[in-house]
Amino acid sequence: MTTHVTIIGAGLGGLTLARVLHVHGIPVTVYEAEPSPTARSQGGMLDIHDYNGQLALEAADLMDAFRGLVLEGRQAMRILDPDGTVLFDKADDGTGGRPEVQRGELRQVLLDSLPAGTVRWGHKASSTRTLDEGHHEVTFADGSTLVTGLLVGADGAWSRVRPLLSTAIPQYTGKSVVETYLFDADTRHPAAAKAVGGGSMIVPAPDREIFAHRERGDTLHAYVGISEPRDWFDAIDVADPAVATARIAREFAGWAPELTALITDSDTAPVLRPLYALPTGHRWDRVPGVTLLGDAAHLSAPNGEGANLAMLDGAELGAALAAHPDDVEAALTAYEQALFPRSAEAAGTDSDTDPVHDLITAFTRHEQAP
Ligand SMILES: Cc1cc2nc3c(=O)[nH]c(=O)nc-3n(C[C@H](O)[C@H](O)[C@H](O)COP(=O)(O)OP(=O)(O)OC[C@H]3O[C@@H](n4cnc5c(N)ncnc54)[C@H](O)[C@@H]3O)c2cc1C
Repeated sequence: MTTHVTIIGAGLGGLTLARVLHVHGIPVTVYEAEPSPTARSQGGMLDIHDYNGQLALEAADLMDAFRGLVLEGRQAMRILDPDGTVLFDKADDGTGGRPEVQRGELRQVLLDSLPAGTVRWGHKASSTRTLDEGHHEVTFADGSTLVTGLLVGADGAWSRVRPLLSTAIPQYTGKSVVETYLFDADTRHPAAAKAVGGGSMIVPAPDREIFAHRERGDTLHAYVGISEPRDWFDAIDVADPAVATARIAREFAGWAPELTALITDSDTAPVLRPLYALPTGHRWDRVPGVTLLGDAAHLSAPNGEGANLAMLDGAELGAALAAHPDDVEAALTAYEQALFPRSAEAAGTDSDTDPVHDLITAFTRHEQAP
């Protein structure tokens, strides 16, 4: 195949596609808005599933490097009541199918697997337009432009490529999460560290939830879920971390102190992340020369699958292009035929998507498997 592939976005999805194309000798360039690989903390831990994310890493020929990143013991799982009662406690016996890695380290493995210059940093796509059958023009924030033969939008929730295919716009799900970090938790925050345990912990409750996990070392990373409209959060002064923390903690009055410590004892300012989603089943008619992957295609409230799916999308698209070297449209058709049902199934059909409930489902799915 001689068509050069242009990917917008160097997240896990775009980079997996770039790597699989590289493995197959297909020329590719990735344009990324961030100025450098270290411009933003990639934060967070991801469990990479044997039924999607790991398949992508196999296609990318990176399983050995991936295994080197796995944090042992992190598949342990606990569910607690708000009063601190342990409802479910499963140790990591090493047989689970969802090993945990740091997102930033996984991204770095993908970056290191690409030839120098494949990723062009500091290229924020500001708009896109169709020129003629199969060709598109990308305009970057600095005013420069690029004409593409095959354009792939891997640019996440607020994709600038998506409008070429779809009028869908992500909508607020009615929930937001507040992220906190507690460092050196075993010595500085022992009660919270004990509550979280060696892996992940979920405290589900109506409209107020806490999900936390133990990252590299003994860092605790918590996602405090609150179901309220956007304007409820707008009233919180996030510029004043102490005030914002106290306001959020008030919503968890009466919860066990080792759980509220995940809010009040944070070593970082709380970061508010409103959760948006595209309509479940989002799809588009085939438009020559352009497609989407990952959150750009099927953004959903966090359910433990998004990064895994983005990587699988990238791997599947790369494989489809390699399998149809002389027919890009046949490759895109085959890719999208599998993409649409896969994304819809992962997002589920529940319009009142509940991220923590979905996370529990994701975790316990393996417990129930025969
Ligand atoms: C709170 C939270 C927790 C989550 N937890 C998990 C989890 O545990 N497991 C899991 O699998 N998923 C999780 N997800 C979902 C996961 O983060 C996403 O689904 C995943 O990152 C999507 O990957 P992507 O490559 O499609 O997009 P992204 O990771 O969003 O990457 C897009 C890239 O494109 C770049 N970009 C954006 N706009 C432009 C532009 N205009 N021009 C050029 N570049 C651009 C961005 O800088 C970025 O590098 C979570 C999400 C949230 C919000």
